[in-house]
Amino acid sequence: MRPQVLFPLFTDVASLKGIGARYEKLIKKLCGEKVVNLLWHLPYSIIDRSYCPKIKQAQEGRIATLKVRITEHQPPKTRKQPYKVYAEDDSGEMVLNFFKVYKDSIEKNLPTGQERVISGKVERFNGLLQMTHPDYIVKPEEAEKIIGKEAVYPLTAGVSNKMLHKLITQALQRVQDYPEWLDTHFKQKENFMPFRKALEAAHNPQTIADTEPTSLAHRRLAYDELLANQLALALVRNKVKKQAGRAFSGDGRYRKQVLEELPFELTGAQQRVLGEIFADQKAPFRMLRLLQGDVGSGKTIVALLSMLNIVECGAQAAIMAPTEILAKQHYETIEPLCAKIGVKAALLTGRVKGRARQQLLAALEKGEIDILIGTHALFVDDVKFKDLGFVVVDEQHRFGVQQRLSLSGKGRDADVLVMTATPIPRTLVLTAYGDMEYSKIDEVPAGRKPVDTRVLPLSKLTDVVAGLKRKLEEGCRAYWVCPLVEESEKIDLAAAEERYETLKKIFGDKVGLVHGKMKESEKDAVMERFKRGELTLLVATTVIEVGVNVPEATIMIVEHAERFGLAQLHQLRGRIKRGFQASNCILMYGFPLSETSRARLDIMRRTEDGFEIAEKDLELRGGGEILGTRQSGFSLFKVADMTVHKDLLYTANKDAKMIVETDSQLKTPRGEALRILLYLFEQDDAVRTYLAG
Ligand code: ADP
Ligand code: MG
Repeated sequence: MRPQVLFPLFTDVASLKGIGARYEKLIKKLCGEKVVNLLWHLPYSIIDRSYCPKIKQAQEGRIATLKVRITEHQPPKTRKQPYKVYAEDDSGEMVLNFFKVYKDSIEKNLPTGQERVISGKVERFNGLLQMTHPDYIVKPEEAEKIIGKEAVYPLTAGVSNKMLHKLITQALQRVQDYPEWLDTHFKQKENFMPFRKALEAAHNPQTIADTEPTSLAHRRLAYDELLANQLALALVRNKVKKQAGRAFSGDGRYRKQVLEELPFELTGAQQRVLGEIFADQKAPFRMLRLLQGDVGSGKTIVALLSMLNIVECGAQAAIMAPTEILAKQHYETIEPLCAKIGVKAALLTGRVKGRARQQLLAALEKGEIDILIGTHALFVDDVKFKDLGFVVVDEQHRFGVQQRLSLSGKGRDADVLVMTATPIPRTLVLTAYGDMEYSKIDEVPAGRKPVDTRVLPLSKLTDVVAGLKRKLEEGCRAYWVCPLVEESEKIDLAAAEERYETLKKIFGDKVGLVHGKMKESEKDAVMERFKRGELTLLVATTVIEVGVNVPEATIMIVEHAERFGLAQLHQLRGRIKRGFQASNCILMYGFPLSETSRARLDIMRRTEDGFEIAEKDLELRGGGEILGTRQSGFSLFKVADMTVHKDLLYTANKDAKMIVETDSQLKTPRGEALRILLYLFEQDDAVRTYLAG
């Protein structure tokens, strides 16, 4: 259960004073639902209100705080005019302008003949000093409250800095002095202040440097967040490791035969990775390993060989793909090889129905099927294995930590291998997959030709089409990718359809169209025709991103490539990288082209190394977003920033490992404090699932 000291922070923001229904909605959208979310909403700049000139000396354009006496009110004659209030000090006169205000409230706030301290941006108009809608109007005795430095927060339409400030101040008041969860020695070395002090400092910056992620206060908070993340993962990992697993060590008979059937030798990287996997399978613990390898690095054969090790031991294995197309593709690679060596492989997707499905399920339960290939349809309730020993998840970043674990629940302590085709920078591997062991295929099979990548403006479209025409006449096959921007799927679809129509006029009925709004079966049918060569040009929205294998396709044209992320472009280009023929990728961009987009396209032109691209992507975008959307499970940290806090991540990783080794149930005084930390950063699952009591 969440510690009581945190209750005030985990209430709805509606519980804050002065918020009201309208603000409640806006604040929830801006910061989050709970009071605690406000704590992580940090200022990015400051306004200095310590400039207190006389009216006559005030420099225009600056934020000034002035002590004035109100002399006269001049209500507007028409609605468009401002309500003017005149004021003076012993140096001269000025005017305050207000639009759309109530006479009553303004007379109350600025009574004629009285002194007020006002603060805001000053301008001069015909020599007369003006201030439009002062940020602050206070009585002289309250002046101290506003003079000085004011934190400036990221805002949203309808929420003023002043309002947000008030709410955040209340949130800060609900923070208590929690027991210290940092290692004393480390805290001293880093010169960190206590958590509460750090929060207060981050929200009350005195200089611009105080608002930067490199400031001591930010670093302390970033470390706390990273430690919570790493500790949660370390707890999962520790638990999994301790769970009894089965020791699989086959005699190699199937693997040997498959290797003989293959028209190629395994690369050094494939062999090394297989060694790591076999070692896990042999150990009497649950296996949870991530296998990373770029598109075309040969993960499928690695998956097959590791499944065969299990089959050699008489148990079953399953491989789960994110889409039907991919499942089918795995089936088409795996089944023929299995058939040759007398191993039974079957395909189960949502489309296998009725009698066929019943028969398949029965065979599975009897153990007549050795390797089952499918989508998440594999894991619905009525699918029963006789003895599932090993699950391969071809992930594409769709599953969270919890889901990954529940998958293996289908079998007695089944081992799990997660494969991902997107190269992930080391920092993100630690933050997102820190609960798993990790293998990397960092070598592509020899003899692959590099892709000739060109970057061209959209104004060259006619030339590109002419070049494409020649290539298609020579017998090539090509993808034409149209961007899909989430906000307006309809418009994008319309653009793709329009492009399809124009290309059809030029290339005739050899052009096909696939997009995300089509049914799986329709998509499959079009893909199938492209595969067979009945279609030679495939116009597509990004649906083809997910690993479709058409080795004959060697050309890819990406329209508005500047709208794609680097990871996406890399995945797309991977589609034409599989053949041994030369291939061409043309990235077409429109204007305006931002610096970042230009840099991205340039990287694409320079390198094909997925790991290098991933690191660059991280640099350009700074984290979380890197692999696409937030839903991908790589959501941004609230405070930590992977472009500046890498060092802290590595330390947090070591720290977390050490904690779990010495205090796996978090029972020591530091352990108790760490529980608070975990809850504070909403790692409730980790505490509930992996800690007793
Ligand atoms: P990935 O799933 O990693 O994107 P695949 O497993 O689909 O890659 O392999 C891509 C292609 O490379 C396939 O046609 C496969 O047969 C081939 N391949 C795999 N390993 C090797 C190798 N060691 N040498 C040559 N070709 C290979
Ligand atoms: Mg693959």
